Amino acid sequence: MTDAHEGARLTADEALETLIEGNRRFLRRETRTSAFHRETIADLAEAQRPFATILGCSDSRVPPELIFDTGLGELFVIRVAGNVISPEIAGTLQYAGTYLETPLCVILGHEGCGAIAAALSTKQEGTRFRSRVQRLLANILPGLPDLDPTLTPEEQSSRAVESNVRYSVRQIEESPEWRARVAEGWMKLVGAVYEIETGRVRVLSPVGPP
Ligand SMILES: [Zn+2]
Repeated sequence: MTDAHEGARLTADEALETLIEGNRRFLRRETRTSAFHRETIADLAEAQRPFATILGCSDSRVPPELIFDTGLGELFVIRVAGNVISPEIAGTLQYAGTYLETPLCVILGHEGCGAIAAALSTKQEGTRFRSRVQRLLANILPGLPDLDPTLTPEEQSSRAVESNVRYSVRQIEESPEWRARVAEGWMKLVGAVYEIETGRVRVLSPVGPP
């Protein structure tokens, strides 16, 4: 078990393995979050030392703390529809990296994402949504590939979800802040997709620049 106070001492690889192990417990229904008691709350009143930052979607079916079986103080979570990067999100990520020094950052997309479906609909059929929704989708559209129209809607959606995760990863990787972290060698950034039908989190293999 990872103690919340040990979190900051994990390496990025250990942090990723901790998340994957937590997702396995979640799948086996052997979750341990009930182990967090008042002492933890009191200890955490001093400071937070989360071992990972998660940028995920607001979708009610994908709460990172539950699907990774983590407790109070362990994850620094940012949720926004479509797990997009915006100035506020970038600022929150920068805060996590600079001040909390979380060794791992995960961009977590999920299958069946409504925001991605809406962006695909805008791209392929020109559908227009309400103004602020459309502004949100503008953060997704540049990362969507031209999809083979012979693919099934499910396959198209799945590829779009993965592309969107990779797009968010690329935007972080292109920032000077991230380059500085990479040079220091202690932080890792990964993309992942939550499989809505199984509950499994699939870590995406890294790719080079497009
Ligand atoms: Zn979503």
